[in-house]
Amino acid sequence: MQVPAARVVFSEADRAEIAAAAREILASGQLTLGAYTREFEDAFARAHGAPFAVAVNSGTAALEISLRAAGIAGADVVLPTNTFAATAFAVLRAGGRPVFADVNPRTLALSAATVAAALTDETRAVVIVHIGGLIADDIAEVQALCAERGLVLVEDAAHAHGSTRAGRHAGSFGVAGAFSLYPTKVVTSGEGGMIVTADERVRDEAVLYRDQGKAGFLGNVHIRDGYAWRMSELHAATGLVHLRRLPEFLASRAQVAARYDAAIDDMDGLERIQVPPGDVNNYYKYVVLPRPGVDRFSLRKELKERHGVGLAGEVYEAPLHQQPVFEEHASRSLPVAEDLCARHICLPVHSDMTADEADHVLGALSASLRTLTLAG
Ligand SMILES: *Cc1c(COP(=O)(O)O)cnc(C)c1O
Repeated sequence: MQVPAARVVFSEADRAEIAAAAREILASGQLTLGAYTREFEDAFARAHGAPFAVAVNSGTAALEISLRAAGIAGADVVLPTNTFAATAFAVLRAGGRPVFADVNPRTLALSAATVAAALTDETRAVVIVHIGGLIADDIAEVQALCAERGLVLVEDAAHAHGSTRAGRHAGSFGVAGAFSLYPTKVVTSGEGGMIVTADERVRDEAVLYRDQGKAGFLGNVHIRDGYAWRMSELHAATGLVHLRRLPEFLASRAQVAARYDAAIDDMDGLERIQVPPGDVNNYYKYVVLPRPGVDRFSLRKELKERHGVGLAGEVYEAPLHQQPVFEEHASRSLPVAEDLCARHICLPVHSDMTADEADHVLGALSASLRTLTLAG
């Protein structure tokens, strides 16, 4: 049996519906920022318990726009070092200076203590990233710290479609939540992004920024230095159909995760991330920490070559403060994130994964760890 690292799931019925919508859109002549975009925004907002959603053409754009709306130009912005480069690029492009912070090993996310350790007199905002879809169980402390210091909290929710913590959705903890709709994410529109917010001003700013800072769609008065961040109607139709599957995707991913949890708790030398009871995790990634000393490269190779199992991409393989492009922003070592990044693996989770596939992954993992231990 082969289990690929990732699988994009569009059912035959969904493909037909998107094809029909595409015909209608092409015939209508309205190819961008039209009725499908508005419907997708409304559905996305409803699915995430948010008053407003603004569609854009990437998760990176959603982040940059959220940061521009937060007014971070010329200021320091705290973000975790274990995130995708886009989080830090968005800070730079919005005119801010990224300040990399360490994370809580239990949540893989910023905590009040790791944020506090990264604050400067120039800090104006904090970007929290819900790694692998997990919302930190201590996020209320980060919110409290931000409130106390007058900092804007922005969420990079690129991993966290549908995740909830104590009943609250990802994207509702900060002033804005930025989602990605890239093909590997839990919901995709091909390419795309979404900003959710409860703040009408942020919604209005996002609408301005995404279309060249124009005061109105049809006018030519530019009041912000925006960009070409619009979502096309074809992407909106794709995302609208895919989003409808989110509840069943969450249910089937949770079933795979429950199978993984039970088996991993019985295996020696493996730690897994604990999701608090009652929380919903979308399991964008299923993160496992092998004991120190297991060589990740060899494990990957063994799983692929001997068992046909592709591990999903790490979140992340290397922390950003060790990436060449961010060298001038890297001021100190961040030992927890360095260890997590170097050591963890991500088991494959697909939105249509079968129990047999999950069991094959588990059997392969157990056999591979045994082989590597004997070899080591
Ligand atoms: C995918 C991702 C982004 C960027 O989203 P794009 O849609 O690829 O621009 C930003 N942050 C994180 C954490 C991501 O995983």
